[in-house]
Amino acid sequence: MREWFRNLWVGISTVVRGLWVTLRIFRHTYQRKAFTQIYEYPEQPVPVKARYRGFHRFDLTTCIGCDKCAVACPVDCIYIEKEKSPVGKGFRINTYTIDYTKCMFCALCVDPCPVDCIFMGSNHDLSCYSRDGCIVDYAKLPLQTAWGQATLNPTAVAESKVLYEPVWVKGEPSPFEFAEE
Ligand code: SF4
Ligand code: SF4
Repeated sequence: MREWFRNLWVGISTVVRGLWVTLRIFRHTYQRKAFTQIYEYPEQPVPVKARYRGFHRFDLTTCIGCDKCAVACPVDCIYIEKEKSPVGKGFRINTYTIDYTKCMFCALCVDPCPVDCIFMGSNHDLSCYSRDGCIVDYAKLPLQTAWGQATLNPTAVAESKVLYEPVWVKGEPSPFEFAEE
């Protein structure tokens, strides 16, 4: 008889505990704000952690065109076109393109860079209507946008598509140096 009552108690208490969880979640569902009430995208985007791996940040004025990032990329989605610079040593970068239809945001391209000119950024949105919009040539973007001081956006990428020359070439003064003065 005692065993029967014990089983009855275990059965009832288990059902009550399960229902309590259901009621608690049910109440939260009606009390919490809608996601769009908290984050009014795009004016107020969802915050990301400091080590978030978003679209890259790239400094054209520092890159020496060594190809180490492209060699390290496991999916071969970095394409660099360069030529011998007539000014000073090293190369002039003509294109520094990343194909985001292939990139898997692994950050393996960041560590080999000897001059720290490529990092993973915090931007997670580069919405576009075509695959071409996912192919970003950082040498044709405004320097501040490429280096993450302005948000990388589809309009900047679309405007960069009509440029044939990089926005900065070796020998020209770096706008970042002016900003520091
Ligand atoms: S994050 Fe990874 S996949 Fe993307 S470009 Fe860098 S190495 Fe290649
Ligand atoms: S590793 Fe750095 S310096 Fe070398 S090509 Fe890539 S971004 Fe430029």
